[in-house]
Amino acid sequence: MVETRPSKIDGKGCFALRKIPARKKIGNLKGEIISLRKARKLASAKGRIAIVEFGDGRALNATFFEDTMKYINHSCSPNTYMRIAFSRVEFYALKKIKKGEELTCDYGPTHHDGKLKCQCGSPACKGFL
Ligand SMILES: [Zn+2]
Repeated sequence: MVETRPSKIDGKGCFALRKIPARKKIGNLKGEIISLRKARKLASAKGRIAIVEFGDGRALNATFFEDTMKYINHSCSPNTYMRIAFSRVEFYALKKIKKGEELTCDYGPTHHDGKLKCQCGSPACKGFL
């Protein structure tokens, strides 16, 4: 349903191979469950990370997994949303997604603490993440 391609937003992105109806499940983020402590340590080290915190002292670390889903970039006007349930991170279409469109998600608070300039290009862009 999706593939990895270079993104105008940042590095690589996740793109729809066909149109995806609103509310459809796109997939789960592949990763290993780690402690929040280890997640924060990885976040403070240099380099790209793909970590989702569960809010219960654990996190899903997708950094070392080759998974298209982890390339979903942040946008202030996203077309997908992330749902955390039963120690899984699931992505769903927030609205109808066209074939070839880049999939984006609102990350919410990040380890960048609002200091990273947002590149999403949306008219509703909040500026930083
Ligand atoms: Zn933005």
